Amino acid sequence: MKAQSDNLVEAALETLKASTLRVTEPRRALLRLLAEAEKPLSCEEIRARSEGEFDLVTVYRNMEVFREQNIVQTILLESGKQLFELTVEGDHHHHIICRSCHRTLRLELCFGGELERYASSRGFKQLEHKIEVFGLCETCSED
Ligand SMILES: [Zn+2]
Ligand SMILES: [Zn+2]
Repeated sequence: MKAQSDNLVEAALETLKASTLRVTEPRRALLRLLAEAEKPLSCEEIRARSEGEFDLVTVYRNMEVFREQNIVQTILLESGKQLFELTVEGDHHHHIICRSCHRTLRLELCFGGELERYASSRGFKQLEHKIEVFGLCETCSED
């Protein structure tokens, strides 16, 4: 597990270097924090876990940079808030997300192909899809 998070951080750093973006110590720390997280995190959660090292603006700005470089995948919650998860190129998956505690299950299966084929048959081009399933996890739905 440790080795896997190291690999994710290394891959992300390589992407930053390849794009001529500077690999700063804060960026390195933020990538590590994301890699070691057990679930996708909001900017507020990232800030909280950094133990005061980063303010919210710094977290937002860097997540925006990471998103542009496709280092992170974002999950848009029903509230409009975004969660961030480290990803590598070509890694395509979906999530089931608890709308209360943000516990997240990764879905390795994808139904998007069928939807995109349909969109294509209706003349749409440059297709992409985002599919997330929201619900209440077992813990959060207990009375
Ligand atoms: Zn929950
Ligand atoms: Zn998909």
